[in-house]
Amino acid sequence: MRQKTISLNTLHKEYNEDFLNEDHDWTNVDTPMRTDAFEMSPAQKKEKIALHFKAIMETLGLDLTDDSLKGTPSRVAKMYVDEIFSGLLPENKPKIALFDNKYSYNEMLVEKNITLYSNCEHHFVPIIGKAHIGYISSGKVIGLSKLNRIAQYFAKRPQVQERLTMQIGHELQEILETKDVAVVITAEHLCVSSRGIQDVNSETVSAFFGGKFESETVRQEFNNYLIL
Ligand SMILES: [Zn+2]
Repeated sequence: MRQKTISLNTLHKEYNEDFLNEDHDWTNVDTPMRTDAFEMSPAQKKEKIALHFKAIMETLGLDLTDDSLKGTPSRVAKMYVDEIFSGLLPENKPKIALFDNKYSYNEMLVEKNITLYSNCEHHFVPIIGKAHIGYISSGKVIGLSKLNRIAQYFAKRPQVQERLTMQIGHELQEILETKDVAVVITAEHLCVSSRGIQDVNSETVSAFFGGKFESETVRQEFNNYLIL
């Protein structure tokens, strides 16, 4: 399995050719987790994170007796566990019901511009992007909002964009019982734009193409819908 991101100012130039026509091996797609990841309850995790975050703030020299700051450690802990990293808890995975494709729609279905808020696992600052998902039904169809929910579930983890793209693609292949799935993500990484190199114009594009989407014609059709 090879994966790459390409940094482009415009979205629709080209996708990575190397990525195509390969046997995908999914073993490296999982988020690296500790074996004791789920031993603590969410409530216990919040309590522990609040203590540690308080220590970080105090180390920075902040006075936590100040009215404005004193609630911050528990607010951050709650936000981490219940919101921005809630995708680390398997129980938060969206429940998906599929429907029979009664109307025999056999064309590509594309859900584009799905808003994604994730966080870079190297700096813990936001990744803000859009996901574009395409699939060709193998006989089952999915409620459209479920595509958004799946993308957002995987985004709510510390991430690298490549892994996020693959996790969404792989999950959709499993749920939809078809290899014919495409995922393209375009995103701004705040670790690139607000610190470090401080490039506010660069955007990262990553892509996952499975099954029929490995064909040039099908990929071209998908690209055309993204431009519309
Ligand atoms: Zn980063």
